Amino acid sequence: MKILILGVNGFIGHALLRRILQHTSWEVAGLDVGDDRVCALAGSPRFRFVRADIRKHRRRIEQLVADADVVIPLAAFTRPADYVRDPLATFELDFEENLRTVRAAVRTDTRVLFPSTSEVYGLCEDERFNEETSRLVVGPIAKERWMYSCSKQLLDRVIWAYGRRGLRFTIFRPFNWFGPNLDDVRQSAPGSARVVTQFIGHLMRREPIPLVDGGRQRRTFTYVDDGVDALMRIIANEDGRANAAIFNLGNPANDVSIRELAELLIAKLARFPGFAAAAAAARLEEVSAERYYGPAYQDVPRRAPDITAARTQLGWEPRVPLRLGLRRTLAYYAEDASPARAYGTAGSSER
Ligand code: NAD
Repeated sequence: MKILILGVNGFIGHALLRRILQHTSWEVAGLDVGDDRVCALAGSPRFRFVRADIRKHRRRIEQLVADADVVIPLAAFTRPADYVRDPLATFELDFEENLRTVRAAVRTDTRVLFPSTSEVYGLCEDERFNEETSRLVVGPIAKERWMYSCSKQLLDRVIWAYGRRGLRFTIFRPFNWFGPNLDDVRQSAPGSARVVTQFIGHLMRREPIPLVDGGRQRRTFTYVDDGVDALMRIIANEDGRANAAIFNLGNPANDVSIRELAELLIAKLARFPGFAAAAAAARLEEVSAERYYGPAYQDVPRRAPDITAARTQLGWEPRVPLRLGLRRTLAYYAEDASPARAYGTAGSSER
């Protein structure tokens, strides 16, 4: 099987690529503007890296889509700070460019696996969000943060409509995936990383951890290996079980408030010898959403998936508990971010 991953150097793309090369005989063409995460895999004869910007190299992408059996268009603006700061760029990349890719897939009869998001459920009040029955609820236009959610939702609808007219597709909705190499923790700007890595960066730099609106929001965190496991099942598509389907991919058991997440990270970090002092010095600081993200932000109080569809159709079960996932993630940053160099501390193996 020939797979095209657009945004292969991202968090999900590189983890998926690694799994594919390790466990299958599939071939991957991967496109991205950067290659720091995937360059170590460039020696594989089954991986071809294409350095390109999907906004500029459209012909090239059309050709790559035509050559593939499956296209997974992962390139997007994915961090809240990005889509609050530049909603138009978010619309252009996350919706318009991905629409071009979807249309190329329609023309070339290539199967599409599209990353939607848990954000499409927005302010839905269901206890567990369900792909078929939950409402997709967004806020006022002036709250520009909804551009990301709406872009994804509209593309979900477009893909669904093409699907009713012959496009082979699966839509998947990651719920706060995390793990090693999620983001670069040395980026210090507010919102420049997803919440797990944002907090790890603050802890390692001994900065206060900002808890937006007190950190009362609840999220379900999903360890990346579990998410990739689901994606492998979707790609393999045994008996067509992923065809024309939407799957929530989240771990309902890993349901915590953001404050609890911060406290867990501090407790776990304290067990890594080189970081015990950083953990002891950790401080939580409440900040309003408006001060942290600006007036265009609106928070989502809670978000948890119903994963019955993924369980029954894919035979998938997320297995990694939050504490274990956080320990592995911290171990990665403690080792790989070279704290002795970057943060002036020594040692990294967990006690
Ligand atoms: P990521 O930000 O880590 O990776 C995105 C990749 O796309 C990056 O490597 C980036 O360089 C690349 N890219 C961006 N613009 C590009 C361009 N113009 N040309 C070529 N490459 C470009 O994101 P991720 O976490 O890997 O997420 C992948 C997809 O899954 C995204 O569509 C995201 O919206 C969706 N998603 C992820 C999560 C999650 O928990 N990680 C949750 C919901 C949805």
